[in-house]
Amino acid sequence: MSSITNNTPTAELQRLDAAHHFHPFTDKAGLDRKGARVILRGEGCWLTDSEGHRILDAMAGLWCVNIGYGRKELAETAARQMQELPYYNTFFQTTHVPAIALAAKLAELAPGDLNHVFFAGSGSEANDTNIRLVRRYWQVKGQPERRTIIARWNGYHGSTLGGGSLGGMKGIHAHGGKIDGIEHIGQPYWWGEGGEMDEDAFGLMRAQELEAKILEIGADKVAAFIGEAVQGAGGVIVPPKTYWPEIQRICRKYGILLILDEVITGFGRTGNWFAAQTFDLQPDIITIAKGLSSGYQPIGGSILSDDVAEVVGSGGEFAHGYTYSGHPVAAAVALENLRIMQDEGVVEHVRDTAHPYLAERWARLADHPLVGEAKLVGLMGSIALTPDKARRAKFASDEGTVGLRTRERCFANDLIMRHVGDRMIISPPLVITPEEIDILIERATRSLDESHAGLKADGLLVAKA
Ligand SMILES: *Cc1c(COP(=O)(O)O)cnc(C)c1O
Repeated sequence: MSSITNNTPTAELQRLDAAHHFHPFTDKAGLDRKGARVILRGEGCWLTDSEGHRILDAMAGLWCVNIGYGRKELAETAARQMQELPYYNTFFQTTHVPAIALAAKLAELAPGDLNHVFFAGSGSEANDTNIRLVRRYWQVKGQPERRTIIARWNGYHGSTLGGGSLGGMKGIHAHGGKIDGIEHIGQPYWWGEGGEMDEDAFGLMRAQELEAKILEIGADKVAAFIGEAVQGAGGVIVPPKTYWPEIQRICRKYGILLILDEVITGFGRTGNWFAAQTFDLQPDIITIAKGLSSGYQPIGGSILSDDVAEVVGSGGEFAHGYTYSGHPVAAAVALENLRIMQDEGVVEHVRDTAHPYLAERWARLADHPLVGEAKLVGLMGSIALTPDKARRAKFASDEGTVGLRTRERCFANDLIMRHVGDRMIISPPLVITPEEIDILIERATRSLDESHAGLKADGLLVAKA
């Protein structure tokens, strides 16, 4: 029996963690020297660590704890389902009630004719499924040459080999390589890459890179385009309003499938059930995970249009699936999460209360001397840190130096706000109240002030030449 408990001293927990727990996306040697922060419990938007700090979690874990921590209904649902049927598969012509009920619920919530769900255990797995699905789709249609998938630089679609290949993060490609048949185009990041161009013209230009890439590869060789409605891990990059309509037009023109990765933007994050509604898009496939279960259980999936399901379904066996596809406990918990969201009007709370309240305060952060732009869609937001707003300048220091210093100030002020390079990002639980938004803004402002003073003192408020 393990004698490690919540009462074990922090230093001992950190020692054991360093000795045996290899963390994802972490510099192991760096963390081992410092010791990981130990989180013990959560309630609503708040976390408590082993030192007794009460931390406002403005990231909802990893963009996922949408209904907040500590909901007993979800724990009770899991316990009930584990006693009834803890596991059964959905491979060999069998099914079970939680998978049926969740698939039917998702078909009801998803827009248009997105009526069929293929379950996975995570967002990465779901995107791996999507690679196979779209290639299989074209095989069954008698066009097996159509297998290239076009994605964006600085997109994020998970970190399995397939998901990491779809993503456009060179650091991920560098560790273990990238599968073939995936091409990348530029991201719609006006603030960072738009130069002298007008924002809308830039959005159009970046969308038209899709058409150029299709023509370069040959339209008869392209299977699909994949993108996040709003790039999350890339820095909460909100595309100019001209971008998505043009992408949709180009996909239609060349008959290319559109995969919208809604792992973050799904389930209320943008003020609608799906960002496809917020951006008025008709994707052929939507990737889901994270908020689907509010992170209480690992579950993901692909929601397919009638057309995709019919075509792939008419080709005989689709040779793909996971032991835990539609796992009954995960499915039951996800279903209960969606019930709570509907009964408590969580999406309406985002749209009518939390977003408007936060939007006004978030926009004002752009007046801070360290902040260049402040973006917010629903409850996902970002601010760009800059030494010179007029020029939208980057810092002379290595990218991420200022972001990391600012994040450390947030941590010290008991606020979890993440940095991506020199952008700061938030994605709080959707149930955040106006009072908690006030605390978020107050702590963020204090952290920015402290970071600004520290940068000045250390001579780092210098623009790149
Ligand atoms: C987190 C994320 C994924 C990967 O999901 P995992 O559950 O971590 O595998 C995929 N796409 C997007 C947009 C994400 O944010």
